[in-house]
Amino acid sequence: MFQNTEIAFKWRSDKDLRRAYFLMKSISKPWLVNTGKHLANLAIAIHLPINWIVKPTIYSHFVGGETIEECIPLVRTLEKFNVKAVLDYSVEGSEDEKKIKQALDETLKTIYNAAKDPNVPFAVFKPSAFGIPRVLTKASEGADLNDWEKKEVEKFRERVFTLCKTAYENDVPIMIDAEDYAYQKIVDDVIYEMMLQFNKEKPVVYNTLQMYRRDRLDYLKYLYDQAQKDKIKIGIKFVRGAYMEKERERAKKLGYPDPIHPTKQDTDRAYNAALEFSVDHIDTIAVFNATHNEYSSYLMTELMDKKGLAKDDPRCYFAQLYGMSDHITFNLAKLGYNAAKYIPYGPVRHVLPYLIRRTEENTSVAGQTPRELRLIEQEFKRRKAAKK
Ligand SMILES: Cc1cc2nc3c(=O)[nH]c(=O)nc-3n(C[C@H](O)[C@H](O)[C@H](O)COP(=O)(O)OP(=O)(O)OC[C@H]3O[C@@H](n4cnc5c(N)ncnc54)[C@H](O)[C@@H]3O)c2cc1C
Repeated sequence: MFQNTEIAFKWRSDKDLRRAYFLMKSISKPWLVNTGKHLANLAIAIHLPINWIVKPTIYSHFVGGETIEECIPLVRTLEKFNVKAVLDYSVEGSEDEKKIKQALDETLKTIYNAAKDPNVPFAVFKPSAFGIPRVLTKASEGADLNDWEKKEVEKFRERVFTLCKTAYENDVPIMIDAEDYAYQKIVDDVIYEMMLQFNKEKPVVYNTLQMYRRDRLDYLKYLYDQAQKDKIKIGIKFVRGAYMEKERERAKKLGYPDPIHPTKQDTDRAYNAALEFSVDHIDTIAVFNATHNEYSSYLMTELMDKKGLAKDDPRCYFAQLYGMSDHITFNLAKLGYNAAKYIPYGPVRHVLPYLIRRTEENTSVAGQTPRELRLIEQEFKRRKAAKK
């Protein structure tokens, strides 16, 4: 289903593809990524200009641009191939009120932009951009909060409310990314409150479930039961989860049970079971299947087919990150499914943590780089043969 490289890379010129190949080859080398990571952290700490090296390389591969306007040409290109775009203002955690306000204004802009652009079907944000992680962590643990902390939690709730209400008023579904296990509990609670208000007729607010967590399949079933009782719809973005090492280290350091499944197979099983459960209950649960895993993408097409759903059923979406797994996105789009690219944008310094995560993910042996390289090589061969 995903092996047609002509469809996967039609949108990329030979030059583009050569650049992508060179980049993927470089980030498959752990020593280079490690050195790059340390240099990037050092450069940030001592305010060295790093744009000149980062921007034409990993930034341009994984990031849409610095502003919404800079991402628009990419959105229009994707549109030609029936691929949707989800613009993600990639700023993470700050305690500075001015920066939080700026992130709020920018995220509101993404909602207004999605409202007027039919090729941008969702808005999205990260919880840590709107609340102080250490305070949200205390709230999640049920610890006693002082007055300042209580106010901060309230401010977080108000900011999330502003975003969800604006999304609702503009008829734009909005997704909330999942980050650290430590503060997900309060994020889940606030999101459910928003669902109660805004998901009465259709799913507007989407939570993200990281299926590498042992408890998430049960949570999905609990959410479903609650939604039935409360007569609302729920939207879920499913991911496996991007912070496995960090979560394991924290659990070990603080001496609580590792919240992550013991093996990759367990994560895969939970992920696929969640898709099955959700498509089976599609009248209540809308699914945003965010994965680079070929089987999990294929499985959902099968489940939709069995359930008799149209390929472009608005409750079923597939998505991959910009710069990864084009073979899944473009082949699904060509077949008529709702397929999207998640496109982070923002100034270089702000998106560095995201870029470091992407390079690390692509460096690991089990990562997707060998597959990406093989597909690009296959396409080079095909293009060469077609020119003869
Ligand atoms: C559109 C989109 C949006 C995303 N949004 C988020 C988000 O909001 N929050 C977030 O955390 N991530 C997010 N991600 C990242 C996602 O979590 C990573 O892509 C994912 O980690 C890679 O998993 P995969 O399903 O693509 O594929 P695979 O390559 O099949 O799976 C790799 C993943 O399996 C899990 N895994 C690997 N080894 C083990 C092990 N030994 N034990 C247990 N589990 C293991 C890990 O989660 C690992 O990342 C998003 C991804 C996409 C495509």
